[in-house]
Amino acid sequence: MFGLSKKRDKKSVELPFLCWQCEMSAPNGCGTHGEEKGVCGKTATKARLQDLITYGLRGLAAYREHARELADLDNPEDRKRLLEIDDVIGESLYFTLTNVNFNFDEHIQQLMKIGQAGVKVMDLLSDLHVRALGLPQPTEVPQNKAEKAKGILVSGHNLLMLKKLLQRIEERGLSDKIYVYTHSEMLPAHAYPELKRYKNLKGNIGKAWFDQTEIFAKWKGTIVVNTNCIVPPEKSSKVNEYIDRLYTYKVVGVEGAKKIENDNFDPLIDHTLQLPDIEGFESDEKIKTGHHYLTVLDFYGEKILNAIKEGKLKRIWVIAGCDAPGRARNYFRELALAVPKDHLIITSSCGKFRFNDVDFGFIPGTDIPRYIDLGQCNDSNGAVHLAFTVAKALGIEDVNKLPVSIALMWMEQKAILILLALLSLGIKDIYIGPRAPQFLNEDIYNFLKETFNLKVISGDIYKDFGKELAA
Ligand code: SF4
Ligand code: SF4
Repeated sequence: MFGLSKKRDKKSVELPFLCWQCEMSAPNGCGTHGEEKGVCGKTATKARLQDLITYGLRGLAAYREHARELADLDNPEDRKRLLEIDDVIGESLYFTLTNVNFNFDEHIQQLMKIGQAGVKVMDLLSDLHVRALGLPQPTEVPQNKAEKAKGILVSGHNLLMLKKLLQRIEERGLSDKIYVYTHSEMLPAHAYPELKRYKNLKGNIGKAWFDQTEIFAKWKGTIVVNTNCIVPPEKSSKVNEYIDRLYTYKVVGVEGAKKIENDNFDPLIDHTLQLPDIEGFESDEKIKTGHHYLTVLDFYGEKILNAIKEGKLKRIWVIAGCDAPGRARNYFRELALAVPKDHLIITSSCGKFRFNDVDFGFIPGTDIPRYIDLGQCNDSNGAVHLAFTVAKALGIEDVNKLPVSIALMWMEQKAILILLALLSLGIKDIYIGPRAPQFLNEDIYNFLKETFNLKVISGDIYKDFGKELAA
């Protein structure tokens, strides 16, 4: 089915690799002395494919954990859906054991299995979020504005934890005293009816995860980080300015922070009451969120189809993914700003903070917003559902024939899973960036390029998308 291109650069096989997982390892690990292959015969390419498998699994495990928290284990359908994911995690880890598999095609097939499990886990998580919290509604969220009251700032992806916290504040009759704000990937929380109904869920503070050292130091209330991404004191000395007010949840942890144990939010709430009122966040900005794919289909499905047929909507852009420090990601803002007025931008994940301050308005001659925020990174499945629904309605068999352009930022392993999910669905012509993952060697990169036309952005939006931007 698959196979390495004959054109592959043989030299790439000589790239150094490191494997020290078994007792046969060369001293300090196979590959550390320039060996082309390990003692067992594993080549650099196979070692890197196995790295890719484990990185995809990390993303899968993260989403699986959130799904598990929301699932009802007495419900056979929930159990079946979780088990399908667990089976892929178990089998794929076994696949990477020493002396199990040295076949390139089968490594690719295993990666595609992980991608398919990625589609399933995102669908499951999306369904469970909607079941627990209702269907998101397009919502305008106050940005960087905090009222003078006690405050808790919640960062991460765990919406269920936020619900439990709001519930506990309400049970204690403190909803008028303690206001709760979101940070980074918690922004979409404001659109879920079962979270929105808490009037003390007030707004969003800051942008993507890495501004936390600045924002958390300025925030004088308590802070909860309930999933990645968290910055440790080893990275920034500013963390020490807020570490005594920082709480972590479940697997998240940094030394010096307090842990929320067994969903007991009382120590956090009591601590918040002892701290000064929040001051210093007085912006009038607003940002939009809440375009879950089911919401988009419900609100705009018919309109989008008609706009495409009438030539009012010419192209759909998916500009999404993880944000990270550095100016290289300005590319994605530049791209979003250059997208013609009769094109639609779909986004998700924390990369949207690169451009979600912009008012993109509406597709001319329609009331379809030009900017659609599907939600968190795990809501990226929405872009796939929208693309397949539009293709089906237009009678287009190959989804790659749709006028869609995709530019994705990647940072960590949830993004790797999302990429594998897209590839497993046969989606081609994806640009990733700002730079290639370092664990891909030339063999693997050439394979992905030839099979999926996967490309790394050049840094010049017109070089990469000149034709599409001009259309
Ligand atoms: S699995 Fe192979 S490459 Fe890895 S340490 Fe053992 S012998 Fe070396
Ligand atoms: S989208 Fe990626 S980088 Fe951003 S907070 Fe989520 S996991 Fe971290």
